Amino acid sequence: MRDFSADHRWLSLNTATVRKQGDLLEIIDACARHGMRAIDPWRDQVAAVGLDRAARAVRDAGLDLTGYCRGGMFVSDAARRTEVRDDNRRAIDEAKALGSSCVVLVAGGLPQYSRPGSAASKDIAAARGQVHDAIAEMLEYARTANMPLAIEPLHPAYAADRACVNTTRQALDLCDAIDPARTGMLGVALDVYHIWWDAELMAQIARAGKDRILAFHVCDWLVPTRDMLNDRGMMGDGIIDIKPIRAAVEAQGFAGYSEIEIFSNDWWSRPMDEVLRTCIERHKTAV
Ligand code: ZN
Repeated sequence: MRDFSADHRWLSLNTATVRKQGDLLEIIDACARHGMRAIDPWRDQVAAVGLDRAARAVRDAGLDLTGYCRGGMFVSDAARRTEVRDDNRRAIDEAKALGSSCVVLVAGGLPQYSRPGSAASKDIAAARGQVHDAIAEMLEYARTANMPLAIEPLHPAYAADRACVNTTRQALDLCDAIDPARTGMLGVALDVYHIWWDAELMAQIARAGKDRILAFHVCDWLVPTRDMLNDRGMMGDGIIDIKPIRAAVEAQGFAGYSEIEIFSNDWWSRPMDEVLRTCIERHKTAV
């Protein structure tokens, strides 16, 4: 496993971590101030400053993109299928313009939450079927753009409203079904927040192999968690043993960035420079 204790060259910042403190251009400036070499921006942050300006700022700062958040939300009623497809194609186009390494996919849960306005359903099996079909369709477009897709399994607590793909096994099953030849165009984004509890985790990481692990996200799980979405912890403040998970991922050959992704009302209320300084410090000690 790589030694992160001396510097933060393998730190990437998911820009949602400081989304309340500044726009994407300000975040990119802050990354330069703190010697951060990579980010993973969100579509709404890119849209807020304009795709061209965002792409120029990324290029000028010499930043790598460890992902683009996010595509997906594939589950909808029949009336919205075309909208879902086109929206995801635009995500690929934007990722391409920004020079991202992949598009992160959050699958979507039940249709009424995945794509609001859709007719309500309780059929999670149908939702999972739709996710399979929609990723298969999206992958065809992704191949023409040479833009890999990274399925991010989300903790089961989000199964209804955000993602009905909830385990690393499920995400890898989708990869194997849709891309059995392992072309490198379809894989997983592994986020310790979502997967730390899984008794099968280590076996599934070993199953994934290098070509399926496209991104690695870190934060921490606080006890108690006061808000299901926006109370993630800074690495080292919670109960996730991050290093053994990173060791397992790297044992497969993953040699990319550890991307810090913290949605937290607490950390959003602090100055951007304090958050980034803390990220760097914890990246050295807890990641
Ligand atoms: Zn993540």
